Order: sequence, then C-alpha cells, then structure tokens
Amino acid sequence: MPRQGIALVLSAPSGTGKTTLLKRLLAEFPHFCYSVSCTTRAPREGEIHGKDYIFMDRESFEQRRAQGYFAEWAEVHGNLYGTPLESVKTLLDQGQDILFDIDVQGAAQLKLTLAGAVFVFVLPPDMQELERRLRARGQDSEDSIARRIANARAEIQQAHWYDALVVNDSLDTAYDELRAAYMAATLAPARNPGLTGSILAS
Ligand code: ADP
Ligand code: 5GP
Repeated sequence: MPRQGIALVLSAPSGTGKTTLLKRLLAEFPHFCYSVSCTTRAPREGEIHGKDYIFMDRESFEQRRAQGYFAEWAEVHGNLYGTPLESVKTLLDQGQDILFDIDVQGAAQLKLTLAGAVFVFVLPPDMQELERRLRARGQDSEDSIARRIANARAEIQQAHWYDALVVNDSLDTAYDELRAAYMAATLAPARNPGLTGSILAS
C-alpha cells in the first residue's frame, strides 16, 4: 500500500494572516503542493494568475461548476471560489501532501469527501485586530472590509468542528502551532504503511 498524502486544509476569516502562515509553511516544506483555486474575484496587486488563483469571470466559473469540475465551491464575500477536483485524490494516493486555503463552507464539503484530511482554523486574537490587519493590508475597499468583518463572525462560529484552532497573535507562535498540526498528521498510520508489519517481521 503506497503512503497516503496529507490534505491540510486551512481556514480563517479574511485578514487573519492565513496567507502569511501558509507561505511560511510552503517555504519550509517545499514538497507541499498548493491547491490553486478558481475565483471570480479580481486579482489583488501582486497576485499571479495560475499561482495564487485561477482568475475567471462568473460565466466560466458557472460552466465549470456545471461540468463537475470542482471538489467543492462556495460564494464568499460576493465572489465564487472553487477547488479544481482534477488530480486532488490522485495526488494524495501518490503520497503528495496538499495544502488547501478554503473557507468554512468549502472545508465542510471537503470533510465529507476527503477522509483523513486535517482541518486547521486560524483565529485573530480579537475582532479589533482583525479589522486593523484588513486595513493595514490596504488591498480591500471599505465595502469589502465591512463585508469581511461581518462574515468573520459567522465563520468563527463554525470553527468548533475543526481539528485544531490556532490563534495568530504572535506570528511565530501561530506558525509553530500550525507546524505541529502538520507534524502530528505525518505520524498517522496511513502515512506510514508497512511500519508495524516490518517491526513484527523483524
Ligand atoms: P489572510 O490571508 O488571512 O487574509 P494575510 O496573510 O493577507 O491574511 O494578512 C493580513 C495582514 O495582516 C497582512 O498585512 C499581514 O502582514 C498581517 N499579519 C499577518 N499575521 C500577523 C501577525 N501575527 N501580527 C500582525 N500582523 C499580521
Ligand atoms: P481572498 O479573497 O481573501 O483571497 O479569500 C476569501 C476567502 O475565500 C478566504 O476565506 C479563502 O480561504 C476562501 N477561498 C479561497 N479559495 C477557495 C476555494 O477554492 N474554495 C472555497 N470554498 N473557499 C476559498
């Protein structure tokens, strides 16, 4: 039986620092494959098509959705987001670890379809700091910031079913905790097939 890859799913209210943590994880573990989502949102400054997101219009997104192209999809802050199904399961079966950055609605869908996935929810230290970070990022309009804050409350109420909660107050501490959740997953039996057998056979 080949070694099963780890699906590490990260969710957080927008502005919490998930992208910052995720980039750090990808830098330390370059073998991770990042699941690039499709979105109808306009690119932010510096975002690269095909690397950060696959940017598309609503019509193309809806066409793909009708064709069963997505493992999960959701409407977040007025835009559509979806994870291409193509090869997710194949890559996991080949032992490839995959990192997902998706909202709570999408994560709940993946929980039903990806057995063994690890779900980590990143929390802001408090709501004031969340608003401060959204403003500091300087990439969202006032309208968009207000919508993101309102959604954050609803999202945080869903965090109870995740496997791990990480508070991003000190970035270093939050990163250590996220790393620990990943490290724990590498110890799962599905990740180490043949280990017990080889010990018993010795
Ligand atoms: P998200 O991906 O969750 O929307 P970002 O990673 O874009 O959030 O972070 C939002 C803003 O907060 C960025 O300006 C980032 O530099 C800042 N930030 C991230 N983590 C921390 C932290 N622990 N303390 C202070 N600022 C942070
Ligand atoms: P942003 O626009 O700030 O990049 O992302 C907004 C929200 O959409 C975040 O909560 C992010 O996790 C979520 N998101 C990004 N890609 C996907 C996806 O493929 N599916 C779902 N369900 N949510 C996504």
